[in-house]
Amino acid sequence: MPDDKQPLLFPLDDEPAQTPAKPAAPTRRSRLLGAVLGAAIGDAMGHPTEFVGSFDAIRSRFGPEGVTGFRLYWDRDDQHFAPYTDDTQMAEIVLRSLLEEHTDLAAAMKRMAEGFVHWASHPQGGHRAPGNACMAGCRALERGAHWSEAGGATAGGCGSVMRAYPFGLVFADDLAKAEEWSVAHSKLTHRDPIALAASAAMAVGMALVLAERDPAWVGSEMVAAACRYSARTAVMMAQAIEEARNGTKPEVTLQRLQGWAAHEAIAAGLYVFTRHPDDPRTAILEGANTPGDSDSIATLAGALVGARCGIDALPAEWVREVERSTELTELANRIG
Ligand SMILES: [Mg+2]
Repeated sequence: MPDDKQPLLFPLDDEPAQTPAKPAAPTRRSRLLGAVLGAAIGDAMGHPTEFVGSFDAIRSRFGPEGVTGFRLYWDRDDQHFAPYTDDTQMAEIVLRSLLEEHTDLAAAMKRMAEGFVHWASHPQGGHRAPGNACMAGCRALERGAHWSEAGGATAGGCGSVMRAYPFGLVFADDLAKAEEWSVAHSKLTHRDPIALAASAAMAVGMALVLAERDPAWVGSEMVAAACRYSARTAVMMAQAIEEARNGTKPEVTLQRLQGWAAHEAIAAGLYVFTRHPDDPRTAILEGANTPGDSDSIATLAGALVGARCGIDALPAEWVREVERSTELTELANRIG
């Protein structure tokens, strides 16, 4: 497990010169709220761009800057809101399960499995483009499969890493537990090593951001966590960090890392976070304006940068307009 004496995989002495001035340090409560709302906002921001398959197509549909704010709104039950997708639907189930059961792994996984099975047949607000592996895992769970074997052995999509951030929030003070439980939960729907690696990295990364670690330290430890399960995931993440630090443009890196697969998603999210650790607006928009799985990439980046910068650093309009903002705020306030 990481500690202060471990060598960094990446040096700290060449931070990007354009990083904006860091505001006053947010409180832990603000960071928890920022993580949950940042993830949901990223998800909703990337909702309309998820299946737009190129940077040119995004610009031609949404303008030369792509999406610069919410571009999809729904009106339901007298509410006007920017809808999120399956990422936040499933992450909410994970977070609620952990808040209710955080001592017994098997009991927590059983609770999560019940939540997933219910979601698969009664999705709150309708299904939002869920992945095939998530739905297949839910069907296996419904048939009675054990939680540790329900996910496909070669299911390596981003469906588990996109909902892994709650482990780093609830178990922020226990990195080993955050990693172990996040990896376990991936197996409900995704058992490929790249999905386990990405889920481990996201949980560890969230916990370290919440602990106010430097972004370079966070990235280094996320790579190390991934490497315990999948070397190629770690290599992909390390390359993404290097590209973020050497100024490689999103049109190159995020064209390659489209995020449909778990290792690409965590690498893409980490690339965006490394480029804009103190600028939630830019990070979320960069994640959303991608030709790949935009909502998931923006969710990962939004969770990380939201946890670093806190709720007050997120545009107030976005916090207000994202779907079920009040409920998500109440939920985040329950995290200890
Ligand atoms: Mg989605």
